[in-house]
Amino acid sequence: MTDSPRPVRTRYAPSPTGDPHVGNIRSALFSWAYARANGGQFLLRIEDTDRNRFVETSVGAIMESLRWLGIDWDEGPDVGGPHAPYFQSQRLPLYQKAAETLMDRGRAYRCFCTAERLDQMRAAQAAAKRPPGYDGLCRALSREESDTRATREPFVIRFAMNREGQTVLHDIIRGDVVFENSLQDDFVMLKSDGYPTYHLALIVDDTEMEISHCIRGDEWISSAPKHIQIYEALGWEPPQWAHLPLILGPDHKKLSKRSGDTAVLDYRANGYLPEAMVNFLAFLGWSLDDHTSILGADELTKHFDLSRVVPNPAVFDIERLNFLNGHYIREMDDARWEATITEWCERQLPESVHRPIDPMVVKSVAPLLKQRVARLDEIAGMVEFLFGYEAPEHELGALTERVGGDVEIALRAVDGALVALAAIAEEQWTRDGIEAAIRGMESALEMKLRKFVPVLYVAEMGRPQGIPLFDSLVLLGRERTLQRLRTARARLG
Ligand code: GLU
Repeated sequence: MTDSPRPVRTRYAPSPTGDPHVGNIRSALFSWAYARANGGQFLLRIEDTDRNRFVETSVGAIMESLRWLGIDWDEGPDVGGPHAPYFQSQRLPLYQKAAETLMDRGRAYRCFCTAERLDQMRAAQAAAKRPPGYDGLCRALSREESDTRATREPFVIRFAMNREGQTVLHDIIRGDVVFENSLQDDFVMLKSDGYPTYHLALIVDDTEMEISHCIRGDEWISSAPKHIQIYEALGWEPPQWAHLPLILGPDHKKLSKRSGDTAVLDYRANGYLPEAMVNFLAFLGWSLDDHTSILGADELTKHFDLSRVVPNPAVFDIERLNFLNGHYIREMDDARWEATITEWCERQLPESVHRPIDPMVVKSVAPLLKQRVARLDEIAGMVEFLFGYEAPEHELGALTERVGGDVEIALRAVDGALVALAAIAEEQWTRDGIEAAIRGMESALEMKLRKFVPVLYVAEMGRPQGIPLFDSLVLLGRERTLQRLRTARARLG
């Protein structure tokens, strides 16, 4: 660690192998928040050295995910910067130069072993129950022999690990982690296609880009001794290390697709707000204090500190995300909320609903909806009933579904409502009037409201639940309300 602290510069360095997932984006968020909280800079670097796993669309998806969450970068592929290019595939000479330096210092060597030989070696190691790893055959080649063979044989360049003693990682989050060098292996740094592996490229770039803190996922901790030894061999100063805790699913197993580890942009498509996502991700391993749970990007970028990241795994709880999403929906001002409703209605309502979406309908339903929606993709389904003369299409059995399939009960509920609501005059068609009429049905039907109300929901809205019924009927108006009950009776009868 250094006495004179360097200016804070952090980076997010995704591999473009697909759309970034939430677990991975948490590294971006923490790196960004750390830079911002310390008046530093945040970089985006694309680690595209694995040509086999490259997915064309992922660079766009990476940037789109960051932008959606409000994570901005000071240097990167699109904005450029003093350390351009920010694609590793465009920086190959830098890695080759570092590899040569290491060869000159005797800390790297060409390996000419064929794939068959390596397979046999691994099979033998497995059979003898020895740990896998390169056996060092080519480490013994003289430089002359290596140079000569290099003119006619393909090769990779391996790092010559120090196999004695220990390598110690000083990690801001985990403290000192000690690795036995005898368990290490001469790994490949530069592949036969001239592309570096992560281990080499990371060090060259973090150094050249003057990264002060390497904040990355816990899955890289076992590679740390490799990285530390390369820094030592090159005589370069390593950044400070911070390995973020694992994220587990609610079952306390590794986060999987099923437990929520899907693409960040899928969350957007499913109706989550960026504020909720940021708030949610921020607490996967970090906390502000022992009581704050609602926190915006402003506060995060003011107060984020690696000293409050814990080493033990964080649990990804989708219920928590849903709760936060509901919270931020309720915080929205009217204009944004109405624009959001309109946007989701345009997107999701059936084509039969007239476009543009009627702003008066949106305005009238907005306050009711705000209390009921946890995800934006619920909006269209909840308001569809307001747009047609009849209720939205529904299954024949839907009317009786919540009364155990009992047509008799459903009929009594519909008839009862017809009588009670028809008795209300047009001018008295208010929430209170409607509520009194429907509650009055309880004694006449000798049935609890709770029991028969789903039948009325289906008749009016095409679904057994939704935004509050009495208010909804006000919005629907007397004529459409009664018409829908008559339609329901006809269907039941
Ligand atoms: N390319 C690596 C990844 O996507 C970067 C890890 C790091 O942050 O150094 O996981």
